[in-house]
Amino acid sequence: MSIEFVLATHNQHKVEEFQRILAEVLPDAVVHAYDGPEPVEDGTTFAANALIKARTAASHTGLIALADDSGISVDVMGGAPGIFSARWAGGHGDSLANTQLLLDQLSDMRAPNRAAAFHCAIALVIPGNEDGAGAFEHVASGVWPGTLATEVSGAHGFGYDPIFIPEGSELTAAELAPEVKNATSHRARAVAALIPVLLQAIENGTHS
Ligand code: IMP
Repeated sequence: MSIEFVLATHNQHKVEEFQRILAEVLPDAVVHAYDGPEPVEDGTTFAANALIKARTAASHTGLIALADDSGISVDVMGGAPGIFSARWAGGHGDSLANTQLLLDQLSDMRAPNRAAAFHCAIALVIPGNEDGAGAFEHVASGVWPGTLATEVSGAHGFGYDPIFIPEGSELTAAELAPEVKNATSHRARAVAALIPVLLQAIENGTHS
């Protein structure tokens, strides 16, 4: 079944990761990158912000929309940076500064007090007809537990990957081959949780 949807992110790394992950489970999926107006992400959770982005993309394109919101949560910091991950050091998306600030903040912490996890929420919004009939919303979540390294290593991935050591690994996420990361990451886990819901929703929509 060919499924066409719009992906509400401007982050090229995420678009590529999503396309690779989705290609494995939905080989015929057609993914458009959303380039319409940006909503204000004023939700207080990953799920709320993902839903805000997906609703905006669905209403502007009329297509089935997927949006993710993700970040890293450090146990000893009460879950921070959390929804502020992208702008932890101030400027949005400055990965080097964000990563260095987190390393500095944790400089006195040793294992096992360096536990952290990547979180991903993916929102699916299927727009309804003019009466709203057929509309459907769902948010799936994925968590990738691990610990924080004391220095950066690795050149793959993006964001906090060079300081995140996934559970069961001795390498950082940035040292893992992209295929390995994509098979186990928070995003892969959220996609895996979403796919059955997506397929069911589409089937319900096409048979109603
Ligand atoms: P978002 O674009 O609002 O979802 O912000 C997510 C932020 O969390 C990114 O800018 C990264 O700093 C971080 N992040 C999310 N997923 C990953 C990942 O897979 N690897 C590394 N950093 C990530």
